[in-house]
Amino acid sequence: MPRVIEALPAPIWGDPAGEPNPPALQGEVDADICVVGLGGSGLAAVGAALDAGASVVGIDAGPIAAGAAGRNGGFLLAGGALFHHAAVEAWGEERAVGIYEESLVELDRLAEELGPIARRVGSLRIPASDAETEDCARQLAALERHGFPARAGDGPTGAGVFIPSDGSIQPLERCRLLAARALDRGARLHCDTPAVGLAGDRVTTPAGAVRCRAVVVCVDGWLERLLPEVAGQARSARLQMVATAPVEPGLIPCPVYDNWGYEYWQQLPGGSVAFGGGRGIYGDAEWGQEAEAGADVQAWLDRRMRERVGVDAPITHRWAGVIAYTDDRLPVFAEVRSGVIAVGAYSGHGNVLGPATARAAVAIALGRAAPRLARLLRPEHWD
Ligand SMILES: Cc1cc2nc3c(=O)[nH]c(=O)nc-3n(C[C@H](O)[C@H](O)[C@H](O)COP(=O)(O)OP(=O)(O)OC[C@H]3O[C@@H](n4cnc5c(N)ncnc54)[C@H](O)[C@@H]3O)c2cc1C
Repeated sequence: MPRVIEALPAPIWGDPAGEPNPPALQGEVDADICVVGLGGSGLAAVGAALDAGASVVGIDAGPIAAGAAGRNGGFLLAGGALFHHAAVEAWGEERAVGIYEESLVELDRLAEELGPIARRVGSLRIPASDAETEDCARQLAALERHGFPARAGDGPTGAGVFIPSDGSIQPLERCRLLAARALDRGARLHCDTPAVGLAGDRVTTPAGAVRCRAVVVCVDGWLERLLPEVAGQARSARLQMVATAPVEPGLIPCPVYDNWGYEYWQQLPGGSVAFGGGRGIYGDAEWGQEAEAGADVQAWLDRRMRERVGVDAPITHRWAGVIAYTDDRLPVFAEVRSGVIAVGAYSGHGNVLGPATARAAVAIALGRAAPRLARLLRPEHWD
């Protein structure tokens, strides 16, 4: 059993419970769509329902962005959870190219929607071995072959593949902004309101219920706990991060991916460095762990950050989050019960693909034809 250390108060992004959140649902309400889970994906689903003129109630077991959506690394990355050349091999060229294209559309949409909360500064993948140097070359060649923006790039911690269309967000601010906008537009949002019963026409909560025409579940980590139907497909694991006191701004110009993506870091506009990883070494022990910072991984992150990034400022924040993985690294996107569509398990890449998938789920929940992204991600359900 890995040791757990007391986490510093909250992720560097802030404490999701630290500001007033919408109150818990009391009593029964009606809506066209009930969205379960108010992270970046669920809030995108709420917005999509409003765009379509539907009435919507969104509920969350905790505050806004209680899950990975408020506790992540803040990278905005094009494509799915596999590097593009690996995606082509695993999913086939047409699907991999289509998913990449859809993610670029979503990146543009996010940049427009979020303004300064999203920074389009690119990302840099740097290799940690000769084998990975070759893999970077294959990744770059595949991106160039398909006409996606990418070039050989360099940074203070190494050279690799630079992807100019990528960027970063302040993940908690993103969710708070989307929640505020949704409330202004007439959505009803309720925090501290776990779904304890889930059927397509009724979501039951401890002190109330939502009567609805369809339900869209937008939950990444622990999706398999909420919906045992996906237990064979999605499996949850903990990811951990640290952040430092501010260092000289501009030291690290863009988010960096290292060691096959197992380690990742970025410098925030205020100068702090946020660093995550350790799954390459501690991955097996992190399956099924709750979102608490564990002593072994945290000690390793301290060392690795100093070695690899060369930053020795004091650590001011330690945190963890839970996400779900699938074997094929494509998200869960299925009608798991009649009228209940579930999306989640983005295998660590839900900041961009999550909202796009959630909006596609809302279109289907409203009876529209399955959007292209749905057919690309899960043709077995939506083609
Ligand atoms: C440390 C870390 C670093 C990461 N870095 C990146 C990154 O840089 N880039 C990237 O793209 N992705 C990253 N990810 C993954 C990314 O954070 C997630 O894929 C994404 O945030 C998922 O958002 P979501 O809204 O789909 O789900 P979640 O964030 O899981 O939100 C689900 C919400 O549902 C609520 N909920 C759960 N059960 C119930 C219930 N029964 N009733 C009501 N509500 C419920 C939860 O409280 C939660 O608020 C990272 C994840 C972690 C943990």
